[in-house]
Amino acid sequence: MTSRAAELDRLDPLAWVRGEFIIEEGGPIYLDGNSLGRCPRAALEILRKAAEADWANGLVRSWSSWFDLPARLGSEIGRLIGAAGDSTRVSDSTSVNLYKLASAALRRNPARNRIVTDDLNFPSDVYVLREVAERAGGLLTIVPSDGIHGPVEGINEAMGEDVGVLSLSLVAYRSGYLYDGSRLGKMAKSFGSLMLWDLSHAVGAVPIDLGEWDADMAVGCSYKYLNGGPGAPAFLYVRPDLAETLAAPIPGWFGHAEAFGFSLDYTPGQGIERFTVSTPPVLSMAAMEPGLALLNRVGVEAVREKSISQTAFMMECWTGELESLGFGILTPTDPARRGAHVTLSHEHALAIDLALIEEEGVIPDFRGPNGLRLGFSPLYTTFSEIEEAARRIRRVVESRRYEKYRSVRPRVT
Ligand SMILES: *Cc1c(COP(=O)(O)O)cnc(C)c1O
Repeated sequence: MTSRAAELDRLDPLAWVRGEFIIEEGGPIYLDGNSLGRCPRAALEILRKAAEADWANGLVRSWSSWFDLPARLGSEIGRLIGAAGDSTRVSDSTSVNLYKLASAALRRNPARNRIVTDDLNFPSDVYVLREVAERAGGLLTIVPSDGIHGPVEGINEAMGEDVGVLSLSLVAYRSGYLYDGSRLGKMAKSFGSLMLWDLSHAVGAVPIDLGEWDADMAVGCSYKYLNGGPGAPAFLYVRPDLAETLAAPIPGWFGHAEAFGFSLDYTPGQGIERFTVSTPPVLSMAAMEPGLALLNRVGVEAVREKSISQTAFMMECWTGELESLGFGILTPTDPARRGAHVTLSHEHALAIDLALIEEEGVIPDFRGPNGLRLGFSPLYTTFSEIEEAARRIRRVVESRRYEKYRSVRPRVT
């Protein structure tokens, strides 16, 4: 008898995409593509060319093609997020981009120096937003949630005429809650505030249409579902007409209207250009190309369809195999309200996570205080892997093999 998982894999129209990634035969079941995506085969070839032909031999002459990389890769990402024309750039890290855009937004109007976010947001975002608000003489309001679902009503109540920015993660890093982008954007607008999205756990996993949502600003990572590689730079988006009215808080030479004019006076570049600051990490950016090309070829709609059935399948595995062993679920059960990862709760989640990595060849991650986070990348995760991972999670708990990890506190989870 073939298992349900094997049947789902056989019918999967995206099954071929897995072959585009470097995947060790008999290697671990990788459920952390939402933290660091796998390496596309083509990335190694491109990195070699970027290092040998462009750097070692081309030297400074290669800047003529490198110079356009932030815009070229930005437009590839733009296609994945519904960004109009020339409105997205690759630059810096997500946290830095968040700082740049939130600061620029608050500088527009000193009377609007409060920022609103929720407690599902990524801690780095919260630190950055608090700093930006306090620097502007305001404060950060963190709307409490139930730990799983976005507190939409609470956000509505927290908004007001002193709010310059509403900033949320479209998909929450821990619970996987997916906001309604259009609805929240309208809410921000009804209070005269700007909407700033963090798309880190959403881009490449769920449909995003910043243009349709009339979104103001967005930032996001490229090393998660975009498979851009460790330390790949982030991206940022600003609605074209809004960008013209914002001042960049770090007016660097790459954001200048004429970078090689070497004028001592700063003239901001057009629109989004002014937010690029300075010399980009060229080798890291070269590695981003294959992942973006694959996603644009496959299309986010197909990714989303597979993703919903994978997270639903995991939830079935949870009901069938794991619920009775003390596992709860920290992810919305409504598929329309969740991204591409499922987080289980367990009293011994960290010890179980470590035992899975060390002894069972399964790589999830731990998100405190009690979350075992399972990320499914539709480009390469199979249904059979999900089924097998659930079986091994069950085995580790039933055999109590996690117990010897109970006092281990790793620096990185
Ligand atoms: C992964 C992630 C980040 C990471 O930020 P870096 O500046 O790239 O380290 C930030 N915000 C969110 C929501 C994330 O998921």
